[in-house]
Amino acid sequence: MNNARSHALFTRASELLPGGVNSPVRAFKSVGGEPFFAQRAEGAYLYDVDGNRYVDYVGSWGPMIAGHAHPQVLDAVARTMRDGLSFGVPNALEVEMAEAITRIVPSCQMVRMVNSGTEATLSAIRVARGATGRTRIVKFEGCYHGHGDSFLVKAGSGVMTLGLPNSPGVPSALADLTLTLPYNDFDAATRLFDEVGGQIAGLIIEPIVGNANCILPRPGYLQHLRELCTKHGALLIFDEVMTGFRVALGGAQQLYGIEPDLSTFGKIIGGGMPVGAYGGRRELMSQVAPAGPIYQAGTLSGNPVAMAAGLATLELIQAPGFHADLEHRTHALCDGLEAAARAAGIAFTTTRAPAMFGLYFREGPVQTFEDAKASDAARFNRFFHAMLERGVYLAPSAFEAGFVSSAHGEAEIAQTLEAARASFALL
Ligand code: PMP
Repeated sequence: MNNARSHALFTRASELLPGGVNSPVRAFKSVGGEPFFAQRAEGAYLYDVDGNRYVDYVGSWGPMIAGHAHPQVLDAVARTMRDGLSFGVPNALEVEMAEAITRIVPSCQMVRMVNSGTEATLSAIRVARGATGRTRIVKFEGCYHGHGDSFLVKAGSGVMTLGLPNSPGVPSALADLTLTLPYNDFDAATRLFDEVGGQIAGLIIEPIVGNANCILPRPGYLQHLRELCTKHGALLIFDEVMTGFRVALGGAQQLYGIEPDLSTFGKIIGGGMPVGAYGGRRELMSQVAPAGPIYQAGTLSGNPVAMAAGLATLELIQAPGFHADLEHRTHALCDGLEAAARAAGIAFTTTRAPAMFGLYFREGPVQTFEDAKASDAARFNRFFHAMLERGVYLAPSAFEAGFVSSAHGEAEIAQTLEAARASFALL
């Protein structure tokens, strides 16, 4: 596979950007080798600057649920952009976006648009602290909520794959306010709330953990957390930056029938533009400035072009059967991968939620962060490169969820499975 142009770009980039990238996991540090540089993308495919084509299971880390460069999204962006890129005064598309989110996610009676998932989560815990007058927050081992100081404690995603259990630059005085729990452990959560429940402002969780591969909640687990938070007066915050609008139109909260107090979003609601949002009950959100005293702001928040891309994407995913169809494709892919591994005698299992999946080089089941960590990462890395050579781009880390889009049709899945059969045989 020719990668001369990507190599030349990465050499230039490495002089000027830390690690050659603007976000760590992109550097391929965990899987080894060098990243490829994108030239363009369309549907299920990414094309690199050397002319190689890949079936893409990363989808810009989540936004591209309707496939890359969808004509309806591009048209909406082009139409909107001709009227100007940013106004700094309110625009109608922000209102439409707020109406769409609050209609699709009923637990959000009000929302605030921001520019990234990180901004959404750090704003949400500020609201939790401001509204409860408490300081401590609870997060889960392996969950990633962006790079806010309070979240870089036992985090997943790049923090985990780079082996940074914590980050220099995060004051311990702040990190000490973040308590961590093992995901899917009922008793540990009960014990923690029994001990310090009265000090906890909010509990933040990825309802399906997509930043430690793809770990699903045990039956009743999210309900258990809901009850603990209610009992102890802490706010339950669902970080649906990844799961929102993906695992069901209304996200994991719809899939599991749980009503969080606050929710955070990103990725899909921006359709590929830099967008995040947080929302929740009116009584909480009306404490945010300027309606209330909890301060949060953004020069480019609610940007019209970003709103247009997000609204067009939300329209596409409201087509009848959209999510059921994605679920079907996800199963076809994962069943096929498991069968290919079995035929090659490789210990391998998958976890699936609609439109998202995890791959593990170990026997199942995988239900906890410890289970996920026990996957053979070295073997994953060899598999990753073998697949890449065969034109299939998986997330470049053994601990990131993969994403299926509506552009992944039978042909793309068949190509993926053929590549997988050849790749498993090499392991
Ligand atoms: N929360 C979750 C669950 C995420 O997956 C991510 C990013 N992958 C974030 C928050 C942070 O979002 P962003 O990278 O847009 O800041």
